[in-house]
Amino acid sequence: MKRRGIAMLAASAAAALVLAGCAGGGGDGGSAEPTTEPAPTFEAGTTMAELAEAGEITIGTKFDQPLFGLVGPSGEPEGFDVEIGKIIAGKLGIAPENINWVETVSANREPFIQNGQVDIVVATYTINDKRKEVVSFAGPYYMAGQSILVLADNDDIESEDDLVGQPVCSVTGSTPAANLKELGAQVLETDTYSNCLEPLRNGQVVAVSTDNVILAGLAAQNEGEFKIVGKPFTEEPYGIGLALDDTDFRMWINDVLEESYEDGSYEEAWNSTAGTVQPFVEPPAVDRY
Ligand code: GLU
Repeated sequence: MKRRGIAMLAASAAAALVLAGCAGGGGDGGSAEPTTEPAPTFEAGTTMAELAEAGEITIGTKFDQPLFGLVGPSGEPEGFDVEIGKIIAGKLGIAPENINWVETVSANREPFIQNGQVDIVVATYTINDKRKEVVSFAGPYYMAGQSILVLADNDDIESEDDLVGQPVCSVTGSTPAANLKELGAQVLETDTYSNCLEPLRNGQVVAVSTDNVILAGLAAQNEGEFKIVGKPFTEEPYGIGLALDDTDFRMWINDVLEESYEDGSYEEAWNSTAGTVQPFVEPPAVDRY
């Protein structure tokens, strides 16, 4: 009798642990701060050792992209990319309040890395061979795809084929702007995606085209005004940009990403940000090129 009671207690304790484990892995929409390692040590001379010693890091991100990187009323950037940046900083022993956030728009990401204005860039940043000539990438940590945003009452545009010869807004220095030109659209280029919304409202362009998750954030921010049409028509693997040939740092960030997939912090980062609008998907495998 007593034995059975203990067994039952053990079973319910196990069930409670399983439940707690699920909640810890995300899904509760909470925004727990990522863990800051108390005193991590790194091999002397590495970027990790330098940053840990300095106790601060400068991270480039977007400031006007809801869900990924947006400076709201708090004055601090918020979003999935911001949370990824905090996870990396935490593993260096750097608390969120010691991160210097810098706005990197699409066109200045490579130059900011090249001239040392930022230590890393986490900014809806597609890994590609052209960019890899001047910067390095850890990741990918997310797979996006180019899509199309139109006014909610527009039924003329259903896919990228309908953009040929049409005025479409995108951003200078981005992969979607290059893809649109190749497609034969007339591209109106500006500096940030939020600056594409007014031209869409006033009919200067018929669509805005960039990554699906960026458009989802803009649509959610302006409920009822816009809609996303068609299916994503490119692959945009998001990476963390860092100095060219800093292989130790790149491999270490890849380790940090993989750990975050295992310990639930990646999923938590998603669920508390972009996960409010987009379902969670398993991250792609990191590419240790
Ligand atoms: N992921 C694309 C890129 O890196 C578009 C998004 C952006 O411009 O940030 O160019």
